[in-house]
Amino acid sequence: MKTFKKIGVNKNIDKGLSELGFEAPTPIQEKVIPMLLEGQGDLISLAQTGTGKTAAFGVPLVQLTNSGSNKTQALVLCPTRELCVQVARDLKSFARHVLNVRILAVYGGAPIASQIVSLDKGAHIIVATPGRLHDLMRRGSANISSINTVVLDEADEMLNMGFQEEINAILDKTPDDKSTLLFSATMSKDVASIASRYMKNPREIVVGQRNSGAENVCHQYYMVRAKDRYPTLKRIVDVNPDIYGIIFCRTRHETQEVADKLMQEGYMAEALHGDLSQSQRDQVMRKFRNKSIQMLVATDVAARGVDVNDLTHVINYNLPDEIANYTHRSGRTGRAGKTGISVAIIHQRETGRIKAIEKRIRKKFERCMVPSGKEICEKQLVSQIDSIMSHEVDENLIEQYLPVIEENLASLDREDLIKRFVAYEFKRFLEYYRNAPDLNIKKEKAVKKGERRKEKDAKGRNGNSRSRFTRFFINVGKGDGIVPERLIGIINERTKVGNISIGKIELLRNFSFLEADSRFAEHVLHAFNHMIVNGKKVKIEVAQGKRPAYLDRKTEPFKYASKKSVAAGRKRKKRRM
Ligand code: AMP
Repeated sequence: MKTFKKIGVNKNIDKGLSELGFEAPTPIQEKVIPMLLEGQGDLISLAQTGTGKTAAFGVPLVQLTNSGSNKTQALVLCPTRELCVQVARDLKSFARHVLNVRILAVYGGAPIASQIVSLDKGAHIIVATPGRLHDLMRRGSANISSINTVVLDEADEMLNMGFQEEINAILDKTPDDKSTLLFSATMSKDVASIASRYMKNPREIVVGQRNSGAENVCHQYYMVRAKDRYPTLKRIVDVNPDIYGIIFCRTRHETQEVADKLMQEGYMAEALHGDLSQSQRDQVMRKFRNKSIQMLVATDVAARGVDVNDLTHVINYNLPDEIANYTHRSGRTGRAGKTGISVAIIHQRETGRIKAIEKRIRKKFERCMVPSGKEICEKQLVSQIDSIMSHEVDENLIEQYLPVIEENLASLDREDLIKRFVAYEFKRFLEYYRNAPDLNIKKEKAVKKGERRKEKDAKGRNGNSRSRFTRFFINVGKGDGIVPERLIGIINERTKVGNISIGKIELLRNFSFLEADSRFAEHVLHAFNHMIVNGKKVKIEVAQGKRPAYLDRKTEPFKYASKKSVAAGRKRKKRRM
């Protein structure tokens, strides 16, 4: 068996690792640690979370730190504060028995003053979110001009979150001869462009397949009507009494709504999203880790830092807008050698998206039937019986009460007793699922309905006022750091109306299209008033005419934007080159 010592890790760090229960290096650690310890330049590693990538870069960073110098020597950039805190915590654990290595986490959403004070004291390794670090650099508090290594952790996610500009600005201030290490679950176009701009002949290490879902995750979907999404979720949870998982929603509002409903109905669930304060989030995470809640209902962003190994399920209550996010979501389960299930609840219009995901992850989804009430009740019964049977009886404790128990139950025979026990324990399930309808959509019906819906949509796009959604044109796009979450966030935060349904979102480089509930068209138009994004005054208007055919092509058109934004786009492109 390979040990950490054998791959060059020194004895003090090895001691820290074995205290964490790390006995042997994981495949990525076995490849990356020796390479970094020998100072072998730039590296791209395609690896999911759960592979041990933090120690793969963290152990060499700690071991190579010169604690005699006061200078910052390494920088780790992470997409979220949760991940930032977690990475810094991991690095500190690796350094537990190494003298004087100072590791500091700086991230947005926390008071900047105390971070400035900590930076003044000096940090050998800074772990940061790009926005906050950029701010600290402009204030002259963080100095990264002498670092020898920069790590871009979850690079795809940082770019999805619109941090491209900050990352560029930060990397531009680092020395030319540093090593750049890029870790990403997927190799998107944006990640590839960062790599080509900032890395020199990087070595590439793929752990598992490139752009593939984790090996031991099984992918399933349930096809139901949109209105049956929540009852379907309940059935999935009810048929898996020992479920321990994350339910992913698209917006903060939806996240809170689903969590509230589950809690009201007695499920052990809580919400995790950006509207919660840090201490509320910490509390939810504590409960989830110690299993006092079974389900975390979360947005993609909030769940980024969740480091829990034994999740049984990931449930896509709604599929993510970006396929890459599906990989992130499903990679939360099936970790550390365990198997996991990633479930998507879809309606009939989304089969195409399942196909697109299958292509990306190179794995097939299995269509599952929503369980019937009878199946669920049987499963619950068996589980309850199992847990009763496995419970140890303390004869001494119970003996003194036996006479009174026997006297009171004397009139019941075995069958009566069982029936009463079932009726008592399962009242909730038996009643809820009495006459429960079949929620599955039959395949032929789904196809026909899908076709009817397509026709209706086509009419809607041609201006039919009966269309449920209005399509808007917005003059900012991916190149301006726009991501679907940001558009949804703007609508959620800047309209007083809660829960405006959002349809399809199409992001192009210089502009975007967004569909929103027609009844709230005015609210949506207002939400973007007086906004400046990437130095551009945001303009939104109801999209006119048919969807241009070139939008279905792979290349991104410039033609459709107004003359002004085309010119601005070209200028920006020139600046980037
Ligand atoms: P990461 O991919 O860095 O998020 O790590 C995933 C999980 O695996 C974390 O909970 C780590 O503590 C754990 N882990 C990382 N390396 C090892 C190892 N060599 N042995 C056992 N557990 C590990």
